[in-house]
Amino acid sequence: MENNSTKCDCAIIGGGLAGLCLAIQMVRLKHSVVLFEKNEYPFHKVCGEYISNESWNFLESLGLPLSKMNLPIINQLGISSTKGFILEAPLKMGGFGISRFTLDYELSLIARKCGVIVVQNCKVNAVNKDDNHYLIDTAKGLYNSKVVCGSYGKHNPLFIEKTIKPNSPNYIGVKYHIKTKFANDKIELHNFKEGYCGISKVDDEKYCLCYLTTSKNLNENSNDINQLEETVLFKNPYLRNIFLNSEFLYNKPLTISQIPFNKKSVHVNDIFLLGDSAGAIAPLCGNGMSMGMRASKMLSLILSAYLNLEISKHEAIALYQTQWNQNFSSRIKAGYYLQQVLGKNHLTHMSLKFLSSSPKILQKLIFLTHGQPF
Ligand SMILES: Cc1cc2nc3c(=O)[nH]c(=O)nc-3n(C[C@H](O)[C@H](O)[C@H](O)COP(=O)(O)OP(=O)(O)OC[C@H]3O[C@@H](n4cnc5c(N)ncnc54)[C@H](O)[C@@H]3O)c2cc1C
Repeated sequence: MENNSTKCDCAIIGGGLAGLCLAIQMVRLKHSVVLFEKNEYPFHKVCGEYISNESWNFLESLGLPLSKMNLPIINQLGISSTKGFILEAPLKMGGFGISRFTLDYELSLIARKCGVIVVQNCKVNAVNKDDNHYLIDTAKGLYNSKVVCGSYGKHNPLFIEKTIKPNSPNYIGVKYHIKTKFANDKIELHNFKEGYCGISKVDDEKYCLCYLTTSKNLNENSNDINQLEETVLFKNPYLRNIFLNSEFLYNKPLTISQIPFNKKSVHVNDIFLLGDSAGAIAPLCGNGMSMGMRASKMLSLILSAYLNLEISKHEAIALYQTQWNQNFSSRIKAGYYLQQVLGKNHLTHMSLKFLSSSPKILQKLIFLTHGQPF
């Protein structure tokens, strides 16, 4: 196997948001970085594509000119129950819409421009320790690095210990880009049995329509997405209307399965984890993208201190764990409880009715799902 003799300070496995943001910051902190992405940019991803405004300044500081990209600014929320009740509220912090196709691609260009070695179409198969450095075994040969970070997303690669509890429920995600008549400044979440579907605008005059439900729900509908939509999602009149009155831009939806929602760990097999690799949050409850970006900022400073010999590896791990818990524990907990309510027809309906008459409690709940700018 080809051995790439260059030794990098930092190797990053997975070039989604978390990995790309970490790579850019590490290079700016004067460390050499190689990033491996198994796909080729630009590519689509299952994601609701609503980013909390907490990340606006951060993304601009990385060199992404959001203000010039004519993106939809989203500051209104609607949540509906299957029975057709809709709760409307302002989103105080709010967010913006941008497709992952555009966002990840633009970040990969910035990364390359500032000196990150971005290796695309390159799956990482194993990571082995060799004295005080690591050998990363990839589809394009062996690479050497002083530290390794995992930002490979929701599914653990085979070389990472399994940390998923065997009985935790599995979810599937389904995404479309559509053209439809819908507000520019609103995100709506529509509940259905065992799931919910979000709609909001992204770049290029498109809307992202994306839902999450249990694998069980799909199994009970002969593993047929059309059947699932017609028999389950269409029971919500808002969803029926969107599905029947929109232009779907791709022949088939983008799907992912076996999504676990649980906290994993921030350091496994001597690899620092960030983004969904460290624990995915129920998507419509916690702004997973912003959490991944925030983790990249924390980790870049800690890794830099470690590489500059200011702190030991042991201290770096402990510091990262502490900061991760401080920033995300309550958000993950809130997400977990919200996830228990959403998708349960009667409970959701009653909760929405209650919240519509308790705007202060509603705003507190929304506040829990958005962090402060960083
Ligand atoms: C249905 C759904 C809707 C969502 N909606 C929203 C939303 O509206 N707003 C929000 O903030 N969050 C949302 N999320 C969460 C959000 O998508 C994630 O939190 C975010 O994508 C995490 O980014 P990441 O960089 O950790 O992982 P990812 O974006 O998944 O990136 C991981 C990358 O690693 C690559 N990779 C994996 N294994 C390897 C390997 N072995 N070698 C090389 N490369 C590898 C993959 O190809 C991928 O590009 C949603 C999630 C789901 C499931």
